[in-house]
Amino acid sequence: MPIRALDPKVVAQIAAGEVVDRPASVVKELVENSLDAGSSQISVEVRGGGVGLIRVTDNGTGIPSGEMGLAFDRYATSKVANLEDLESIQSLGFRGEALPSIAAVAQVDMVSCATGEKAGVYLSLQDGVISGQGRRGRSQGTTVTARNLFRKIPARLKFLKSVATENSHIANVVSQYALAFPEVKFSLLIDGRVALRTPGSGHLVDSIAEVYGTEIAGNMIGLNDEAAAPLPRVAGMVGSPRISRSGRGNLSFFVNRRWVNSRMLARAVEGAYHGLLMVGKHPVAVINLSLPPQELDVNIHPAKSEVKFRNGSAIFSAVQRAVRRALMEQTTVPRVELASTQPVFPSEVRETASLPYAGTTPDSITSAPTPAMSLPVLRVLGQLDNSYIIAEGPDGLYLIDQHAAHERVLFEKIGQQRSQRDIEVQGLLEPVTFEVSPRQEAILKSRYQELAEFGFAIEPFGDRTFLIRALPALIHDKDWAGTLRELLDSLSRENKGDWAEDVTITMACHGAVRAGQSLSEPEMRELVRQMERCATPHTCPHGRPTMIHLSSSQLKKEFGRT
Ligand code: ADP
Ligand code: MG
Repeated sequence: MPIRALDPKVVAQIAAGEVVDRPASVVKELVENSLDAGSSQISVEVRGGGVGLIRVTDNGTGIPSGEMGLAFDRYATSKVANLEDLESIQSLGFRGEALPSIAAVAQVDMVSCATGEKAGVYLSLQDGVISGQGRRGRSQGTTVTARNLFRKIPARLKFLKSVATENSHIANVVSQYALAFPEVKFSLLIDGRVALRTPGSGHLVDSIAEVYGTEIAGNMIGLNDEAAAPLPRVAGMVGSPRISRSGRGNLSFFVNRRWVNSRMLARAVEGAYHGLLMVGKHPVAVINLSLPPQELDVNIHPAKSEVKFRNGSAIFSAVQRAVRRALMEQTTVPRVELASTQPVFPSEVRETASLPYAGTTPDSITSAPTPAMSLPVLRVLGQLDNSYIIAEGPDGLYLIDQHAAHERVLFEKIGQQRSQRDIEVQGLLEPVTFEVSPRQEAILKSRYQELAEFGFAIEPFGDRTFLIRALPALIHDKDWAGTLRELLDSLSRENKGDWAEDVTITMACHGAVRAGQSLSEPEMRELVRQMERCATPHTCPHGRPTMIHLSSSQLKKEFGRT
């Protein structure tokens, strides 16, 4: 084929493909336009997975009647005028590509009434060409309807997933913007059914309640950001380790309120939960970074869902620090929820854990009953069921899970000894042979050095057999063979994050007293003393609570003394 300039229609479709690859991206672009127009109410309606119809209605500033046609010209935008503007983008849109791209792949109608104008105007486009226009009454704002998406592009249609999958992508887009803009009232109607509705109260926790449900909303911790230029302001909320999820899909990041995907930010947040979540569990977080537009580049991809930070490592540590600090300050002893005294959704959280984006920060979150990481001095009263230590503190009763508590103590102790290269080792009187599977053998051979750091002295001794000469003192008189096998298995799983942490957790778990083991009073006192010295005594290394606290005032209330 000779070289030829492409037909403008083909060019438009190729370009459109970069912006709108599925119905959810049409929704994203239209919602972004509505937000840029300063709307306080945005409703989204979709039918047939968005292929049949997508309609976004807002009450924003509208488009002046004389500019309606221009909005559909490629690279026509009211948001950027020159190169300097591009350096300091504040709006979500700036490329002037969305409306023409959508019009290239769907039938589009737009009705808009701009601020100060008496009546609205409408514009219809077929194949990107204006096919009708005129006046139409409506209140201030804009409605854009896209019908029969990709009808003329069968290849694209073929790649779409089921209606349910496309709907879930659409719901995700609307949910993300509802989280980024708690002051905007969002509604999403999917085939006539309300899928999401947010109150637009300006409180992030209210949006979280609608998107994730009240249980999660009631367990979110506000980030207390300390803005310090050139670092970003880190605002938002993170879930208490109690409400972890098995997938990574519950992390939302916004940079200057633009929804972005960022592995780097995900790693920063996950790192902050280090030692607080069970292995394989992921946190819930909604985080908005504010930083000068010059510090980032959003113009990387037509979908604008990726950003580049000028100083990525500073951003990484600012986010990790903010999240870690919030978790440390707010990890609390779970309160016993007796009878029906607690509403499902504690009202204190609703009132105070909010407004992370509005410039003010909540000064404290009053739902925290014991806002300290360290424990008060406790007096041991006895043991329950050979599993729990009953203790009294200055403010009521504590029930301590002896195994989980001891795991926490050992976890911190091993970590400390290892960092000081001071692991307690116990030599065996006679070396013991240890047989392993071929897989375990491979691991063991590649991990001698690391295991030695934890106090294991191991040598090869022929076919799949090893000699053990010394062991970490902690597990010497326990089932050390079982511990070692579990260690090798956990190390052999692929894509493991922090092997050293896995070793520490496994050793702490195996070294800890079991549930069902009777403890003497001095033993219980010693364990409680060690707990008091822990940095994070309230959770075991897997993230489970180590204790339950029943405060004096709760007791009084339960006995009807208030
Ligand atoms: P961009 O958002 O990058 O500027 P678009 O193609 O999405 O490009 O929109 C083109 C222009 O149309 C915008 O710059 C804006 O002026 C106008 N516009 C689009 N949608 C709306 C809306 N919902 N309310 C007001 N103006 C809008
Ligand atoms: Mg736009």
